[in-house]
Amino acid sequence: MNGRLAILALLGLSSFATADQRPERIYDLLDVNWQISFDEPSGTISGDVTNTLRPLKSIEEVWFDSAKLRIQETLIDGKAMPFRLEGERLFVRLPKPADSSRTVKVRIRYSGQPEAGVYFVPAQRAFPATTSMVYTQGEMEDTRYWLPTYDYPDDKATTEGRIEVPKGYRALSNGRLIGQKAKDDREVWHWRLDKPHSTYLISFVAGPYTEVVTAKKPKVSYWVPKGLEEQGQVSFGNTHEMVDFFGKLVRYPYPFAKYSQSTVADFMFGGMENTTATTQTITTLHPKHVEPLASSTGLVAHELAHQWFGDTVTTPNWAHIWINEGWASFLPAFWTREKVGDEAFHIERFDIFSGGLAAHQNSTRPVVWTGYREPMEMFNNFAYPGGASRMFMLMHQIGEAKFWPAVGNYLREYQFKNVDTEGFFASMSRSTGRDLETFRRQWFYTPAAPRLTVKRIDGQVVVEQPEPHFDLPLEVMVVSADGRTETRPHRVQGARTAIPDVQATDLVLVDPEAWTMMTVTYDLGYRRTDWRRLFDVAPNAAQKLRLLDPVMAALSRTERVELAQSVTSPRLLARIVPRVPSREFLLEMTRHGDATVRQAAVGALGGLSRTADVETRLMEIVDNEPNDILRRDTMRSLIRMTGNPQLLERAWSTNGYADIFRVLAIEHWAERDPEKGRTVALDVLENPPSEPVRVFAIRALGRLKDPAGDRRAYDALIRVAQERSFGARTAAINALAQYGDKSAISVLQPLSTHSLSFIRNAAKSAVERLQKK
Ligand SMILES: [Zn+2]
Repeated sequence: MNGRLAILALLGLSSFATADQRPERIYDLLDVNWQISFDEPSGTISGDVTNTLRPLKSIEEVWFDSAKLRIQETLIDGKAMPFRLEGERLFVRLPKPADSSRTVKVRIRYSGQPEAGVYFVPAQRAFPATTSMVYTQGEMEDTRYWLPTYDYPDDKATTEGRIEVPKGYRALSNGRLIGQKAKDDREVWHWRLDKPHSTYLISFVAGPYTEVVTAKKPKVSYWVPKGLEEQGQVSFGNTHEMVDFFGKLVRYPYPFAKYSQSTVADFMFGGMENTTATTQTITTLHPKHVEPLASSTGLVAHELAHQWFGDTVTTPNWAHIWINEGWASFLPAFWTREKVGDEAFHIERFDIFSGGLAAHQNSTRPVVWTGYREPMEMFNNFAYPGGASRMFMLMHQIGEAKFWPAVGNYLREYQFKNVDTEGFFASMSRSTGRDLETFRRQWFYTPAAPRLTVKRIDGQVVVEQPEPHFDLPLEVMVVSADGRTETRPHRVQGARTAIPDVQATDLVLVDPEAWTMMTVTYDLGYRRTDWRRLFDVAPNAAQKLRLLDPVMAALSRTERVELAQSVTSPRLLARIVPRVPSREFLLEMTRHGDATVRQAAVGALGGLSRTADVETRLMEIVDNEPNDILRRDTMRSLIRMTGNPQLLERAWSTNGYADIFRVLAIEHWAERDPEKGRTVALDVLENPPSEPVRVFAIRALGRLKDPAGDRRAYDALIRVAQERSFGARTAAINALAQYGDKSAISVLQPLSTHSLSFIRNAAKSAVERLQKK
């Protein structure tokens, strides 16, 4: 899954079971054969599922996860059997005790109007699509809201689904398409996946979609709402190349018959790796002209990587979720290396290390952790960049020549099964012949990351670290006064290690290629020329970025310009440009050949004081730039600099990619001109130009509120808080908390038991905030 991590900050308390409180498994689920039909206007479903299982011991009844569904009947061998519901579990009595010598088929007929698990998006909220769609989202434990089965990742089954849809609709699901058949005035789409997978990965997506096939074996395709085929091609057109590339990289070819990506609106995540049928947010679709400032590559690579890591091999519980998410965050960097080059790879790697380090800033827990209250809490920086950073380090220590074949062995060993951190390391250890115990313990079970300080004590250069002490096989680069560099191995252990044979005039650079996820502070009295020299000798972009803060802090403005001018890589330059507050230099950079550099330059210019030359140049870009994102950013800088009201009106009347010009205008009014902002936001809620603008208007109204005697903003927010959406609704709940009127509690309180965690947690935290007022 590719999440929106900011949402995690909103999570409140909850009383959900952790891994340890999970009831004991009493059977092995073998197959889930389900069928479903739905009614869009009412959001109701009607389903029929047969769960085939083999008892693990002698049992008289079985249970399934089933939440808020109306169970009509349960049948075994065609005979109705008594059942009972207890919390989120459905118990079904067996006709006679059964044990592991036989399989049992339990059929369940049911209906419901789920608040979670399955989502209905009407056409008017499907922007940029103009047609409706229906889709499921199972991870983490939401399959139970639409399909009664075993709903925890530690049991895999083959699955087969039949989805009944109106004529003109298509339905995508897991595995191979068995067929599509007319049934009265409707059509049934029939899919089967004959390789076992975890039930949170069962999915369907339905609507008037177009399917575009880009490769035959395995079949690779994308599903987009009608009219968005061209944007689909821009986002997903080369996925089949990536399928081949990853298969070769990990020494394990893509294991399924097909790979399809569909796009859905109002999605709560960026993407979801449903087996062979990834669901992507529709907001990833974009026209060619906004690239590279918008791109689907990272998302596509992440969800595709999951087909191996997450779907083929799967964490048994949420405590080891890095097994899924760390790997899906690790693999995309190799596609970057293949397609863009080494420097881009090192920059991506550095950013992943930064994310991994950030996890440790406000939290004292290790990567593998069972103390969560609900599974969503585990989907954070520890799992994603934290897990990926550790795989970069492991790969570097083992060496790529041995690492990837070992990864292939690991995949074969655990294919279609579950695997935890111990299983992974045991497998890698066997394949590489290396003892990985220290690595496993210090990086996955230690609630900290290394923080090194390099200093001189009694004429000797030493590396110090606070507890817990990491054992790090590093290198150090020694740069002598005459410019020669020498790289030596250096093992950091314990509180202090000395680097021998360093002259008083030498410079020292620890971990020169920046392959270790850690912070390094140099307390060696480096002067500005020393910092500049270190930056120049740094062997790759990861190290240059690691040094960027102290280097820039040491240099004068002119020296910063000189340094920026010495950098040839556009990706690195784009990171340096915002730190060079020189008008002449930034103006020059607005003509750079690379759009990311130009974007950094126009952004930085907006922070400078108003001058005629800058204003003229920015206006020239606004008038001529074909890339909407760059044009929007330039408008923003210009508005920030001049406050020009005509420019705001112009933004408000401009149609653009993702409606970003209108969002810019309303964003500005909400901040600088509350009265205008409020009027526009209220109009938007009455008559929305697009869903992105509506969501922004909702957010703005929480801040802008109502003047005395008026309730229009409050009433509008209350209405949205009760509608059946995800993005707009959570925005309205948060906005009501900010609005601060306690009478909203009566509307929000009932939502604090909502099935969807995002709504539930937003409502809980809003009620808490309002009660404190
Ligand atoms: Zn993911």
